[in-house]
Amino acid sequence: MRTQRTRSQERILSLLKSLNRAISAQDIYMDLRNRSENMGLATVYRSLEALKLEGVVQVRTLGNGESLYSTVQQDRHHLTCLQCGASTPIDQCPVHELEHQLNQSYEFKIFYHTLEFFGVCTTCQLVQASGAGG
Ligand SMILES: [Zn+2]
Ligand SMILES: [Zn+2]
Repeated sequence: MRTQRTRSQERILSLLKSLNRAISAQDIYMDLRNRSENMGLATVYRSLEALKLEGVVQVRTLGNGESLYSTVQQDRHHLTCLQCGASTPIDQCPVHELEHQLNQSYEFKIFYHTLEFFGVCTTCQLVQASGAGG
């Protein structure tokens, strides 16, 4: 698929590709600033929106409402602790195959999927067990 991208979109996309993690729009804005590339925060958001519709960028919303952006190539899921907010990436994707099947049976062009597990991490379990707090 050939899409006409703006320079801002290209810059953001290459930044996301160079990172191996998801990053917030605010951090993208700061990062570009550090590289002396002047781009307004509104432009960052607008570009991310366009890249998302193109299917090359995905967004992941954290428990605190913060949105993190990454390239869709990273089919990565997380275990998120409700107590301290730590999120641990997991290596397997149980729905990877399902996505493929849905793509075919519904003729729906799936760009990405989200799957998130919530609970309490090891550290926080220890804190709870020791009876601290509460
Ligand atoms: Zn925790
Ligand atoms: Zn997945």
